[in-house]
Amino acid sequence: MRWSAGGRSSNLEDRRGMSAGGGGFGFGRGMGIGGTVILLILSLIFGRDFIGGSDGGGAAYPDQTTASGGEVGPVRSTPEEERAVDFTSAVLDSVQNTWHRILPQETGRQYQDAKLVLYRDAVRTGCGTAPSSVGPFYCPMDQKVYIDLSFYDELRQRFGAPGDFAQAYVIAHELGHHVQHLLGTDEKVQQLQQSRPDLKNAASVRLELQADCYAGVWAKSDQNVIEPGDIDEALAAASAVGDDRLQRAARGSVNPDTFTHGTAAQRSAWFKRGFDSGDVKSCDTFSGT
Ligand SMILES: [Zn+2]
Repeated sequence: MRWSAGGRSSNLEDRRGMSAGGGGFGFGRGMGIGGTVILLILSLIFGRDFIGGSDGGGAAYPDQTTASGGEVGPVRSTPEEERAVDFTSAVLDSVQNTWHRILPQETGRQYQDAKLVLYRDAVRTGCGTAPSSVGPFYCPMDQKVYIDLSFYDELRQRFGAPGDFAQAYVIAHELGHHVQHLLGTDEKVQQLQQSRPDLKNAASVRLELQADCYAGVWAKSDQNVIEPGDIDEALAAASAVGDDRLQRAARGSVNPDTFTHGTAAQRSAWFKRGFDSGDVKSCDTFSGT
């Protein structure tokens, strides 16, 4: 991807130096809260967002912060990690600037910025507290994307999806969920899932494929960033996190009824469809085939 490290985005929240990415809960030093502060498990239960997998859907994470929960420490980082922060910031701005431009054109709706939170290990969000093992996710309650940058290593090593554009695709996918939130799509899907529990997974797949398609729409609409090989990296990443691939790798077999994100072929095809058209309307995963 073509990008340059400029100033960091005003929409970036760096919480890497905070325990549980916390703060803001009023548990200051010297409050005498011994041991572990267990947060209430909030109503929204985390599944895995970007990647599916049978270990998703667990309970929210009991907060392991100590009496000084929310303490802000210095960020210990490496030049490589700082470069990953710069990159993430550049993608964030590219994706959001693009949506500011095209969402009104294509839907008549204004785009509003989301924040992107960098954290380590665990993070408090408007949707509850999450461990980084859930992977990157978007919380509609606070309209923020959360990512532990170690996921980039996981993407490269565990999922075999190298390249900076694989990472860009992840961020664009999460911001695709923000677009869905702004358009009210996520709410409609949630209502459907409540009234038709039998369609829960199928509806989830369509929502996820649409986020993949929106990522493709961005890639098409900000062609300044595309270099040769980038789209192949995104397609490879989209395939690598297909439910069928993940399930086969995890347990040697595949059960389509439990899919939540779509197959490798579906994920890459919907990214490609968004990229080929550059049009939000081409991403109708709900009525189409
Ligand atoms: Zn997703």
